[in-house]
Parts: sequence; C-alpha cells; structure tokens
Amino acid sequence: MTARPANAHQARLLRLLRDGGPNSRAQLGDQVDLSRSKLAVEVDRLLETGLVVADGLAASRGGRRSHNIRLAPGLRFLGVDIGATSVDVAVTNAELEILGHLTQPLDVREGPVAVFEQVLAMAAKLRATGVAEGFDGSGVGVPGPVRFPEGVPVAPPIMPGWDGFPVREVLSQELGCPVMVDNDVNLMAMGEQHAGVARSVRDFLCVKIGTGIGCGIVVGGDVHRGTTGSAGDIGHIRVEPDGRPCACGNRGCLEAYFSGSALARDAEAAARDGRSGELAGRLESAGVLS
Ligand SMILES: [Zn+2]
Repeated sequence: MTARPANAHQARLLRLLRDGGPNSRAQLGDQVDLSRSKLAVEVDRLLETGLVVADGLAASRGGRRSHNIRLAPGLRFLGVDIGATSVDVAVTNAELEILGHLTQPLDVREGPVAVFEQVLAMAAKLRATGVAEGFDGSGVGVPGPVRFPEGVPVAPPIMPGWDGFPVREVLSQELGCPVMVDNDVNLMAMGEQHAGVARSVRDFLCVKIGTGIGCGIVVGGDVHRGTTGSAGDIGHIRVEPDGRPCACGNRGCLEAYFSGSALARDAEAAARDGRSGELAGRLESAGVLS
C-alpha cells in the first residue's frame, strides 16, 4: 500500500489516530478545526485509501451511534537506528507499537553500502518471522547531520564515506515505500515527545551521549534542524581553546571531553591513580570501564 494523505487535514487525522488509537468521528471532530460535513468528507476519503478502517460502534453521545475508525491494522513501518557501533531494526504497526526488533553490532565506518546490506538482511529476517509482509514507510536515524528534505547525510564527522550518500532514495527503492531520514538524536527527541518524558512540553532539548554527542532541539513542538541540518550537532563546538585533540581533527571539542569514550578514559585514569576506590574496584572486577 502506498497511499498517502492528500492534504493537511488528512495528515492531522492520521496523526490523531496514531497517537490516540481508535476514535469516533465525533471525538475526532472535537480535535480538528473542520465543519462536520468537511470532516465526513476527509474521513470517507481516508477510508477509500485503505489507510483507515471502520472499527466497531462508538459509545453513544446521543443520536445515531457512529463507527469508530482506526488506522488500518495491516500497516507496517520499519524503524532503523544506525549507531556508530550497532544497528537496531524494528517493525511497528501504524500506532507505533513494536512488533519485532533486532539489534546487531555494526561499524558505521564501513560505509553506507555495507551498512544497508546488513539493514536489509535484518529487515528480511523480521519479515520472515511473519510480523510484516512489506512496509508502508520507513524511518532511518543516522549518527550525524542530515539534510532533511533530501534525506542525505552532510559531512558527518564519525561516518566517513556517508557524505552526500542518497540514503532516502536508495532505501526507498530497495524497500518500495516512502523513507524518512533524520539525525538519530532528532528522532530520539521525537520519540520522547510521542511517548516519553517530553509528552507534555513543546520546547525542549534532548542530549545524547554515546560515541558522539548530539542534541535534538524542539521548539514550539517542531524539531529545529537549521538550514543545513546541523543545528543540534553540538559535539564539535570548541569548549577549550587548544584543548584535547578530537577525532574530527580539531582540538578542544565538547566530544573530546564528554563523549562516552572520553568519560570512560577519565574514569579509568581516576581508577588507576587512586582518585576513586569505587572505580578501581569496578575496573578490577570488569577489566574495563565503559
Ligand atoms: Zn571535534
């Protein structure tokens, strides 16, 4: 199925059904700025596309009872989270409940061709379990800045070989469905907004510390990407003139001090030179601090 919403009203109705589950026409009408007749037209058009289906009778609010409508139960989406050292692939229904999930180690520096070969093999493995026949859409997160409209990574510091690679176009052809590509921390921020700690706020920052450091900026409910998609790419802001060397080639970057590996290195130093008995104990039992 490759149907898509034909206008902003339909897109809003789909979002309400995604976030709120099955709903009556009357309840949807309370949440959108549409006359009753216009709402009926848009809902009928969505029913024709097959994106939504009738789903039992709604509770009576006086007068004739209407059918609940919901997103088509057969819709399937593929989520792909490419990290620097691992990749997660998940299948969800239209209400974003996870139906199947795989995680594997991966080295993002092997480049997009090798990485997507692995991602597609993982997607095929999930399909083979019976959770999906095909996909209606896919969202892909990558650990670097992305030119969002085209779905293309832009000079990602920890992803050699990915600069300008048409991720969206290539994956869309392979999967046969629309694909959206974004920076992984922007997607993490959207996840927190959808079902996490940021559900009730419209302005927030979501900071991720891993191999690199990224930041999702949400302003007025929307992700702020900046003109080149790098608004939240805070890892290489210089915090210490002539400071520690960074993997990007510059000195004194935020990441050189606070990335996962920088913190582990500092922790190990504190364990070895006697500044922390607690860390020394952990180093002795685990052999490594991470
Ligand atoms: Zn740097």
